Amino acid sequence: QKALVWLRRDLRLYDQAALHHALKNSAQVWLAFIFDTDILTPLLESESTQDGLTPDRRVDFIWQGLELIDAELRSQGGGLIVRFGKPIEHIPLIAQELGVETVFTNRDYEPSAIARDAKVQAALAKLGIGFEDFKDQVIFEKKEVLTNSQTVFSVFTPYKNNWLKRLQTSDIAANDCEAKPGQFAAIPKKLEMPFPSLESMGFCPTGIEAYLPAGSEAGQQFLEDFLTRIDQYQIGRNFPAIKGVSYLSAHLRFGMLSIRGLVREAHRRMLAGSMGATTWLSELIWRDFYFMIMANHPRLADGVAFKPDYDNIQWEAGPHAKKLFKAWCEGKTGYPLVDAAMHQLNQSGYMHNRLRMVVASFLTKDLGIDWRWGETYFAKHLNDFEFSSNNGGWQWASSSGCDAQPYFRIFNPVTQSEKFDPDGKFIRRYLPQLEKLSKKSIHAPWEVGHIELEAAGIVLGRDYPLPIVNHDEARKNTLVRYSVVKKPA
Ligand code: FAD
Repeated sequence: QKALVWLRRDLRLYDQAALHHALKNSAQVWLAFIFDTDILTPLLESESTQDGLTPDRRVDFIWQGLELIDAELRSQGGGLIVRFGKPIEHIPLIAQELGVETVFTNRDYEPSAIARDAKVQAALAKLGIGFEDFKDQVIFEKKEVLTNSQTVFSVFTPYKNNWLKRLQTSDIAANDCEAKPGQFAAIPKKLEMPFPSLESMGFCPTGIEAYLPAGSEAGQQFLEDFLTRIDQYQIGRNFPAIKGVSYLSAHLRFGMLSIRGLVREAHRRMLAGSMGATTWLSELIWRDFYFMIMANHPRLADGVAFKPDYDNIQWEAGPHAKKLFKAWCEGKTGYPLVDAAMHQLNQSGYMHNRLRMVVASFLTKDLGIDWRWGETYFAKHLNDFEFSSNNGGWQWASSSGCDAQPYFRIFNPVTQSEKFDPDGKFIRRYLPQLEKLSKKSIHAPWEVGHIELEAAGIVLGRDYPLPIVNHDEARKNTLVRYSVVKKPA
């Protein structure tokens, strides 16, 4: 038996379900990854540098992860087959050339990916080649955690309780991926091609490796580091200026780490009484929850609100809305915490969870901008962009989602700043022009007296913007804007 493992968002060679099954069933195993032009062409069209190459951190991160996999396979006599094009064309061709009986892959839950996989499966069937897919990205799939009446949950806490009740050791056991000597077979000459460079695909290096090194080994190091801090997670996670969270989201997003491994670590510590691990596990369950929601409500991929009456809201429109949105994107709203957060995103592709909630609330409820604009901006810039969690997060913040916060709960960006960045340390990191303001003044520079501003060397409107909106007025407008929806019970 010969097998091809088609890698997608499972870029690792350990505890990987499709690889485990391929190795178990086949004497020879090859692995392939396709840089999918259906996904990459829009990125290439949206932005380019002067020399015509596009810097995209995620493409760079994936590319570096693949190089590591290729090197590991080569050390075992194999090699990774990498192509740039459409999976529907390349996968059947590669499978046929290799003469494999089966293509193994891990299930993807986004509607467009499901449609892609169905097409590839049909094309393979025409060639007499099998297609087997496995659960790998999540602990529980769309209908595995149900209410007592066998319906799908739409509220998180009871979902989480049932998820935990249902969890067995076997759900988080690692899949053995040990290959026998020679099982990773050499790439046949006719398929051997140089590893495509980023430039050959229209992209350029981004320097991401300086702060986010790709691959399972780097991911494992991030995890080890986090495990020394996990017991304080329930407190530390709220403060963006300190290292309180795990920073594992991009490795998890591209499957450089196994979700089973992370849940095992958290669950064991939870049973030993760690509050931090209990809270962290709950966050990993949110991830499963949003995958489950998207899988059961694929209409979400069409841009609709989870609660349909929220699609009656009249968002700001026209040039004024565009101007406000631009200021938000560029971190020029005049609200320091919001602006620092947007700078963090623009500079690194990461944004702390507390800040994602703050800026999403600010965009929708202070600026009155459609949450879909923010969702799209995040989708383009986040290293860990994940359709289900991103859509879930935006609909939570704008109150249109399942189990979202009620619309009349509106974050005050100044209070949030005082509470979660009390010393202004995070703000100073991204807005050095505010460096000299005191920790009391830094959250709302427009309220600072002339003498202090002058001493800090700041002219508002020149060195730092005046607020583009008045929060109290915006709050009132939002309550009117949202009056078209039914008040939650
Ligand atoms: P940690 O706090 O260490 O959490 C560990 C892991 O748990 C994360 O890596 C993630 O996989 C999962 N997780 C944590 N919080 C959530 C959550 N609220 N929902 C779902 N999973 C969660 N997360 C993404 O992975 N991709 C996104 O595109 C994304 N977009 C978001 C958009 C908005 C508006 C909001 C409010 C949240 C979004 N999140 C998204 C969730 C969360 O902000 C990130 O997962 C988290 O900040 C990643 O950093 P970390 O790995 O250090 O998190």
